[in-house]
Amino acid sequence: TEACLSAIDKADALNAFVHKTPEIALEQAKAADARLAAGDAPSMCGLPVGIKDLFCTKGVPSQAASRILEGFTPEYESTVTSNLFEAGSVMLGKLNMDEFAMGSSNETSCYGNAVNPWRRGNDDTALTPGGSSGGSASAVAADLCLAATGTDTGGSIRQPAAFTGTVGIKPTYGRCSRWGVVAFASSLDQAGPMTKSVRDAAIMLEAMCGHDAKDSTSADIPVPDFEAMLTGDIKGKKIGIPKEYRMDGMPAEIDQLWADGRAMLKDAGAEIVDISLPHTKYALPAYYVIAPAEASSNLARYDGVRYGHRAMLEAGDGINEMYEKTRAEGFGHEVQRRVMVGTYVLSAGFYDAYYNRARKVRALIKKDFDDVFAAGIDAILTPATPSAAFGLGEMNEADPVQMYLNDVFTVTVNLAGLPGISVPTGLDQQGLPLGLQLIGRPWEEGDLLNTAYALE
Ligand code: GLN
Repeated sequence: TEACLSAIDKADALNAFVHKTPEIALEQAKAADARLAAGDAPSMCGLPVGIKDLFCTKGVPSQAASRILEGFTPEYESTVTSNLFEAGSVMLGKLNMDEFAMGSSNETSCYGNAVNPWRRGNDDTALTPGGSSGGSASAVAADLCLAATGTDTGGSIRQPAAFTGTVGIKPTYGRCSRWGVVAFASSLDQAGPMTKSVRDAAIMLEAMCGHDAKDSTSADIPVPDFEAMLTGDIKGKKIGIPKEYRMDGMPAEIDQLWADGRAMLKDAGAEIVDISLPHTKYALPAYYVIAPAEASSNLARYDGVRYGHRAMLEAGDGINEMYEKTRAEGFGHEVQRRVMVGTYVLSAGFYDAYYNRARKVRALIKKDFDDVFAAGIDAILTPATPSAAFGLGEMNEADPVQMYLNDVFTVTVNLAGLPGISVPTGLDQQGLPLGLQLIGRPWEEGDLLNTAYALE
């Protein structure tokens, strides 16, 4: 813990931690020492971790990287962080992220973006750690913590993991409790671990997840010993390669990475099978209707009354001006765009054309996966991202779709509620990490982690 705290103090340039909690960390570390001395060694005993700012942590500022939550200090602990503390984890502080987890580069954060510790060859252009869990990815990759929590609504664990050479798993929807996690799009949001290895991911996921009566979508399904399932034996497993993920204009090195991944799994005894997920091309448009729709509803609670920031009012201002000014000042541009898109697609007259249609598409995407799993496929291998980490400021702000295209390989998994993991499997020509994604059957994270273990 002391080594991590001192590394964090020397790494301000990465802007990974937005709130440091050294007193809490040292106290928890002492308590962990006492537990160990008493012969009680839970799975995460004494392990220093970072917590994404989206998790409510009792008595510790939790702002979801938004100005609108300025000064908000929760009175309660999220279930995931409380599970981690029970398992002995030590909290080093809160990690940077895109505002309300909306983004793929960490550039929408009210704290300014976190920075990727990796560089392109000798070029010192600062690169994005990805998003929205960019602070988590940067902190794990730079050895500021042993692991971190992330959340993933459309790829926010897997894409930053791929950009930083770390491992990130989004479990099956319902595996981790959403209680105390600031809501973005409730039917898609899931928490998960971001770690240095597949084994660490197995240990941390087990500590984080489990049934929680406080979240009505939390599944009452037993949590297996994920670590014990890491045998590396994948003989006879059927790995599907979906042809729709072979995008036009895909960089040759991503294609090569994917081919290398297939070869590795085949060498380990798996059978490689070509499959089709025909509705893949509709996933991104469906996601960017459903996610903003849910976000516009979830974000209605930030009204200047109940939480955080309230605008200064002028004489004559009424309650409408209070809402308007508070939300205009408190929300950044991307969040405002999502609220507007979401409100539009849910409005009378457009609801059927956009929101309902997107829900139907979502059902078809899920059915594509159900069909291939029913046909005996155990896991699906795809690239995690369409490129390596890009430079900060390199995406054109005036064209948000450019940024949204980052999620092309990851959003299907959230729409279908499936588990997905990103594993670092290579470097590009400039020495930047690249990741492959494995998608598994619902509730079979153990199997998925074991396949990822064979790929690592
Ligand atoms: N980049 C996607 C978005 O901006 C996904 C974000 C996430 O998974 N939280 O919506």
